[in-house]
Amino acid sequence: MSLTPEKVGEALQKVGLADYFTLDSLSALTRFSLKMLQINETLNLTRWTEDGAFLNFHLLDSAYVLKEVKPLAKIERRWMDLGTGCGFPGAVLIAAFPQIEVTLMDSVAKKTKALEECLQAAGWKAKTLTGRAEELGRDPRTRESWDGITARAVADFPVLLEYALPLLKTGGYLVNWMTEDQLKIVDKAQKAIETLQCRIVKKMGYSLPGLNQSRSIVFVEKLGKTPDTYPRSVGQPSKHPL
Ligand code: SAH
Repeated sequence: MSLTPEKVGEALQKVGLADYFTLDSLSALTRFSLKMLQINETLNLTRWTEDGAFLNFHLLDSAYVLKEVKPLAKIERRWMDLGTGCGFPGAVLIAAFPQIEVTLMDSVAKKTKALEECLQAAGWKAKTLTGRAEELGRDPRTRESWDGITARAVADFPVLLEYALPLLKTGGYLVNWMTEDQLKIVDKAQKAIETLQCRIVKKMGYSLPGLNQSRSIVFVEKLGKTPDTYPRSVGQPSKHPL
């Protein structure tokens, strides 16, 4: 892996997203990425390890959201990357918006422990949180505590709504990356949308350089408090989606 801040900057420049970064933040993002890829040699975190694939699928894919998130990323806002896995899209948010508090959350302790090392390598103050969304969403210490949640490749839309909405404050936003197939499920999520009191505010289509495949990012706003019965216990949202 020969990733450098210059290569990361060039890739972002080509898609018009370089303005969200400084030399320092590009350098920190590169250190985070290199540490993650180093740990990935012994712990399976990502399959996109080659320079081009890593830049495309992790960095650029995560960065497509920056324009829309910018107005929501004010000082003291708390964001969570739910099911962060190898740290994306969360790491790109941390690099672009140093003023917000970002938590990288995953149920697998080995992953969050690895991410602690990556955060340290980057020199970022962001935190990690280990837990299942279904449990954190019922815990009064974490329920309704976040202004924004990002999620990529975590669960089908109705399942993800049940994971994320209980963790959001009223007025907060869920930002969900989707493939074309997942986008089809969005229209079938009416029951989950009504039950969990939210609305889709925007569907943004985009495609990654060199790939003839359309992708989407869906923005959901939480309109009111989540009923006490949600989220259901661990495994129920995915076994019996709303
Ligand atoms: N967001 C990353 C990783 C996607 S893989 C990326 O786009 O590359 C999905 C991750 O979600 C896994 O790391 C898995 O451990 C986590 N996950 C799945 N269900 C979860 C749940 N209910 N609560 C917390 N994390 C969950």
